[in-house]
Amino acid sequence: MAAYTFSDKRIFVAGHRGMVGSAIVRRMASEGCEILTAGRDQLDLKNQAAVATWMEKNRPHCVFLAAAKVGGILANDSYPADFLYDNLMIEANIIEAAHRFDVEKLLFLGSSCIYPKFAAQPIHEDALLTGPLEPTNEWYAIAKIAGIKLAQAYRKQHGRDFISAMPTNLYGPGDNFDLNSSHVMPALIRKAHEAKMHGDLQITVWGTGTPRREFLHVDDCADACVHLMKVYSDDRHVNVGSGEDLTILELAHLVCAIVNFEGEIVHDFSKPDGTPRKLMSADLIKSLGWKPRIGLREGIENAYASFLHSGGLTR
Ligand code: GDP
Repeated sequence: MAAYTFSDKRIFVAGHRGMVGSAIVRRMASEGCEILTAGRDQLDLKNQAAVATWMEKNRPHCVFLAAAKVGGILANDSYPADFLYDNLMIEANIIEAAHRFDVEKLLFLGSSCIYPKFAAQPIHEDALLTGPLEPTNEWYAIAKIAGIKLAQAYRKQHGRDFISAMPTNLYGPGDNFDLNSSHVMPALIRKAHEAKMHGDLQITVWGTGTPRREFLHVDDCADACVHLMKVYSDDRHVNVGSGEDLTILELAHLVCAIVNFEGEIVHDFSKPDGTPRKLMSADLIKSLGWKPRIGLREGIENAYASFLHSGGLTR
């Protein structure tokens, strides 16, 4: 099948202010197309009529659906209604409008938390819906599973070329560094940096530090999304990851080394560990001709530099 081409087309990046959406906008700059975006003030993606009106007026050829309500383990656990409702509305409105207004191709972005808590590792795409979810983020996971199914359903019923990508834990420029709602990577970068600046002797890591996680720099994720948009056209969702993981404690040591914080790492056992391991198989995406380019150390150095640049420094 011929690769999908972007040149001279209008490409809607939904969620362009988010970490993933902004990385896709950066990546698409060299593709010779017009990038359409809609700020929160212009378009409420939870409003079905507003999304339909916007699509009718702007008529994108192609949509990257990177808009979502996202957050770390504590935020997911604290705001279950928001994580379920907002994400269901955003994806349903955009996918339905993309169908009604003849979008040629759409890529829906999910997350590795769609998989069962005790899925065999590394997790292959076909592990979806084979067991119970991790309870701390099942709200978000259910919404993202519904998004995959929507893309499949519109392909099956209406012949739409809608595909889905499931990235692993992402980090990089534009990340959320708020300690109550962030994911582990930005939290550790911020904690290690602030401890260094204040001369503190220790930083606190939530939970036991034994859970294993896989990480991907967001620029690699954006590159994978663009690649999939060009070459992939099938109903199976595609994992986007590096295929490698490490423990949270190993990650904490690596972050401390990069930030140059030499103190101790202590644990807050009152905080949840979440799922014990979340490593996705990267076999499918590798077989489609893509692999990550940014190593973990290099990626964290870049994320730390962008944290310093954005000035999110002090307590
Ligand atoms: P998850 O991958 O959905 O579990 O989300 P997170 O990135 O929030 O958490 C990953 C793991 O890192 C969990 O085991 C957390 O308990 C652990 N962790 C350790 N320290 C922190 C921290 O400061 N913030 C967050 N969000 N997680 C932390």
